[in-house]
Amino acid sequence: MKRCDYCGKEISYNDMYCCQDCQINTVKFYSIKEKFSIVFSVINCVCLFAVPLGLIIFSIMDYLGFSIIAISTAILGFTVLLLPLPTDGMISKLKVKKAVKITRIIGLAILILGIALVIADIIIYLI
Ligand SMILES: [Zn+2]
Repeated sequence: MKRCDYCGKEISYNDMYCCQDCQINTVKFYSIKEKFSIVFSVINCVCLFAVPLGLIIFSIMDYLGFSIIAISTAILGFTVLLLPLPTDGMISKLKVKKAVKITRIIGLAILILGIALVIADIIIYLI
């Protein structure tokens, strides 16, 4: 059974999408993905690099190290939430709509964690 590339609804073999909306949304998604994938990758790399770096600094200067971890986690979560770009593997398995939704939920979870760390960071600083 063939499924709509966007929402995953069952469709006939001659179609790519179940409706025009799904086609428009898919085109929109891929143009955003193409336009922002480099920016997205760079921010991701910097943030993913900053977390272990923060851990290393943490052992020398605990406040600064913790701040780096907290802020980069928050930025990473915010980027994923704002620009949910799932991997190609996720897209082919889950279809665009579901993959974007799950990526956004992951981004939100990382952002909440990041904000909690920033708040903890500020509280530690004030104490
Ligand atoms: Zn559809």
